[in-house]
Amino acid sequence: MEYISTRGRAPALSFKDMLFEGLATDGGLYTPATWPRISPETLRAWRRLSYQELAAEVMLPFVDPDIHRDDLVPLLDRAYAGFRSDSVAPLCKIDDDVHLLELFHGPTYAFKDFAMQLLAQVFEFLLVRESRTVTVIGATSGDTGAAAIEAFRDLQCVNLFILFPLGRISEVQRRQMTMVQASNIHVIGIPGTFDDCQRIVKEAYGDEGFREAVSLTSVNSINWARIMAQAVYYFWAGLRLGAPDQSLDFAIPTGNFGNAFAGHVARQMGLPINRLLISSNRNDILTRFFRNNDMSVREVATSLSPSMDIQVSSNFERLLFELCDRDATQVQTFMAGFHATGAMPLPAEVFERTRAGFDGFSLDDEAIVDAMRDWQQKTGTLIDPHTVIAMEHARLKRTAGHPAVALSTAHPAKFPEAVSRATGNPAPLPQSLAQLMGRPENAVSLPNNTHEVRQWIRERLASVGGMRDHG
Ligand SMILES: *Cc1c(COP(=O)(O)O)cnc(C)c1O
Repeated sequence: MEYISTRGRAPALSFKDMLFEGLATDGGLYTPATWPRISPETLRAWRRLSYQELAAEVMLPFVDPDIHRDDLVPLLDRAYAGFRSDSVAPLCKIDDDVHLLELFHGPTYAFKDFAMQLLAQVFEFLLVRESRTVTVIGATSGDTGAAAIEAFRDLQCVNLFILFPLGRISEVQRRQMTMVQASNIHVIGIPGTFDDCQRIVKEAYGDEGFREAVSLTSVNSINWARIMAQAVYYFWAGLRLGAPDQSLDFAIPTGNFGNAFAGHVARQMGLPINRLLISSNRNDILTRFFRNNDMSVREVATSLSPSMDIQVSSNFERLLFELCDRDATQVQTFMAGFHATGAMPLPAEVFERTRAGFDGFSLDDEAIVDAMRDWQQKTGTLIDPHTVIAMEHARLKRTAGHPAVALSTAHPAKFPEAVSRATGNPAPLPQSLAQLMGRPENAVSLPNNTHEVRQWIRERLASVGGMRDHG
């Protein structure tokens, strides 16, 4: 597969080169040059496959010829070996037509594990083959950092640096990151906000000399391999519910639009999805867009579902490219207008096409808490403050007569504040999270200053042998 930029002015790249490049040089996002199409007969045959076998079939066209089938299968076995459920992603029925796809049985109890575990294995495989080492620097407001650390710990070819805002993430989230003792993992607390951490990371990527010296690459949410890994579970759930002979809806708790775009990928490949139900919290820019063509940025507000506290969804540009029939010039124009004005009204015919395949919906904090409480009283089960929005969306707005699947993106114990407000008590911690408490923590704190963070990273890499040159 070749990958092309959504803005049309960067060279087409192979899977491997695109993976380590990150953002395209024209500012666009790399996306597959064509969509593989899977026939209904093939989809029916896929019903018999295990999760890992299915993942190999879905991903193979995207990684070919850089990774062959015989190499891909063991990578997938390793990526999903640490999941606590035999089926990896169990599907659980909540009423006659609505199902929850539980994506929180990975090592850090959030769906980010699906992508990060696979990405780490793919990185290591490609880098060992070329005897290369790379450096990854990321900022986290919670789930992504923990998932990346779990996935990359103890790998030979990747040094991972994660910055987090001191005092601004939950204790469970911090301990999930700081309890890891591995010579290639470096956790850095910054006295500041998540935006400060992100700025330091962006400046590091913007410094050409630094980028070269440490072979900097990225695992952020625009990474195509993460999206490819997430497309798999749409097929997995769809096939369990009768696809391709039955069409269905998916409801997706959405922030950066990576998970939702993975659903669109599955649909492009031939999975019969009626509509993708895009579920948001009070940061409802996507709801306004899918309802009224009102994509206009407001201040980011903190909410009880923090992983969705986002205004500009970085993967939306990939959908925009599809909506414009892959006309990169149009994408450039729309994105330039969006950056200049904070709004992106689409032409009526483009918007109508969009509306047929998507629906937007949002709940504010109070409605989130009410929905969590109702569900707990009715069924005795707790549901996390991201998933509950998608579940309500699926129940209220699914296509009549068709099943709907709400993606369950995290374990409720990771969000004690929302659970306490809904039920009066924080959710009991699963045993492996409870064991984190009281363990020694492994992190440094550095000043909120790009220069000093970069200097520390250089020194650290020099001491573990991760520098290209020591000058
Ligand atoms: C990251 C995250 C989301 C949002 O996913 P995107 O791919 O960024 O849209 C939703 N729920 C949880 C629990 C998350 O960690």
